[in-house]
Amino acid sequence: QTQVAKDYVNGVIATVKKRNPNEPEFHQAIKEILDSLVPVFEKQPKYMEAGILERLVEPERQIMFRVPWVDDNGKVHVNRGYRVQYNSAIGPYKGGLRFHPSVNSSIIKFLGFEQIFKNALTGQPIGGGKGGSDFDPKGKSDNEIMRFCQSFMTELYRHLDHDTDVPAGDIGVGGREIGYLFGQYKRIKNQFQAGVLTGKGVGYGGSLARTEATGYGTVYFVSEMLKDKGLDFEGKTIVVSGSGNVAIYAIEKAHQFGATVVACSDSNGYVYDKNGINLETVKRLKEVERKRISEYVKEHPHAEYYEGCSGIWSIPCDIALPCATQNEIDEESAKTLVANGVIAVGEGANMPSTLEAIDVFLNSDVLFGPAKAANAGGVAVSALEMAQNSARVSWSFEEVDAKLHEIMINIYQQSMKASVEYGHPGNLVYGANIAGFLKVADAMMFHGII
Ligand code: GLU
Repeated sequence: QTQVAKDYVNGVIATVKKRNPNEPEFHQAIKEILDSLVPVFEKQPKYMEAGILERLVEPERQIMFRVPWVDDNGKVHVNRGYRVQYNSAIGPYKGGLRFHPSVNSSIIKFLGFEQIFKNALTGQPIGGGKGGSDFDPKGKSDNEIMRFCQSFMTELYRHLDHDTDVPAGDIGVGGREIGYLFGQYKRIKNQFQAGVLTGKGVGYGGSLARTEATGYGTVYFVSEMLKDKGLDFEGKTIVVSGSGNVAIYAIEKAHQFGATVVACSDSNGYVYDKNGINLETVKRLKEVERKRISEYVKEHPHAEYYEGCSGIWSIPCDIALPCATQNEIDEESAKTLVANGVIAVGEGANMPSTLEAIDVFLNSDVLFGPAKAANAGGVAVSALEMAQNSARVSWSFEEVDAKLHEIMINIYQQSMKASVEYGHPGNLVYGANIAGFLKVADAMMFHGII
C-alpha cells in the first residue's frame, strides 16, 4: 500500500517537472506538499482512483500578459503580468499579487499552489490563485506606480469578478496599489464590486484588521504551538526578518505578548537592537517614507546595522519568525538557529525555509509552524473582508481580530489532529498539508472529473 502511494506521488512529481521545466521554486513547493500526502493515499486510495493529484497540480487556468507603461520621463517600459487561477473547488480563486523583479512563472505557480491548501485551512470558502509582475516598485514615483497598476488592471479585469477571482496584496502590493487597481477595475466595469479585491482601504470597503492580520496571525499560531508545551511569548527573544506588512505586525503582536524583538531586515541588510526594535521608527521608515532599514540606526545609534540578509539568523533567539521571502533560511542558517537554542520557528513569509532547512527543524526539537498554516491569517481576513462586502456591513476591529484569533487556533488544531491521524504526530508540515488537501479533494470528488 505504502509503495503504491509513493509511486503515485512520485509519478505526479515527475510529470510536473517534465511539464514545467526550470521552475525550481514550483518544484520545491510541489515536493514539500506531495511527499506529505503519501499517508493519505495509503489510507484512502479513492483519491488516487479519482486522479485528484494529477488534476490538482495542473492550474485550472494561467494568464500571462503584456503590461506597457510610461515613466515620468516619457520612456516606455514593458513588464509581464501573471495570474494563475489554480483551483476553484471550494470558492473563487483567491490570492495576492506580487510586484517584484524576481517574479516569473515558477514563483507565481509555487505561490498559487501553496495558496490552495492555505486557503482551505482557513475554513473560509476561497479557492487558490496568485498573480503579479516582474515590475520593480522600488524607486518609482507615485504616478508611475499608479500608471503601472492601471495598465496591469486594464488587462487583468476581464479575468476577475467577485465570484470568479479575487486578488489582494503580496510583496510590493499594499494599500496604495490595491487602491489604484480597484479604481481602474471600477472604472472599466462601471461596477462598484467591493468584493473583487481585498486589502482595500477601510473607507471604500476594506476590513479593519486586514493590514495587521498576517503578522498577528503568525504570532497567534506560534502562541498555540508554545501553549501545547506549556510555554508562551512572555520574556522571549525574537528575531523577525523583513520589515514589510507581515513583519511589522508580527513585531507589534510579539511585543504586546511581552516578548522582545531584537532584529528585523530588508533586502539590503538587518538591524540588531538589543533593547527591542522601535516599531514606530520602522513603521514610519517603511510605510510612510519608504526608506531602507539601514536608516534605523541614525535614529537609534545604540543599534547595529549589518549588510546582507542571512546573518540575521546567527542572532541567538528563542523564536524565529521569517517574514521576508522564499528560501531565506537555508540548511546552514537552520543549523545555526538550532545550535543557538531556538524553541520555535513560525513562517510569516511564503516558503521561507528550504526543504533542507525544514528537515533540520523537524529532526531537532524545534516547534515548526509551516507557512501555509502560520501565515494564513492574511488571506483568512481577506475572506472576512469579502463576507463584509457581500453583506454590505463592516465589523469592528475587535470583532475581526477575535475571528482571526479563532481561525488561527482552529488551523493549529486541525493541523495537529491530521498529523496524529496520519501517523506523524506533531509534524505540522504533514498536518497542515493533509488537512488542507482533504477539504479540497473532497469538494473535487463531489464535482466529478473536471
Ligand atoms: N498574499 C497573501 C498570502 O500569501 C494574502 C492573499 C490574500 O489575501 O488574498 O496569503
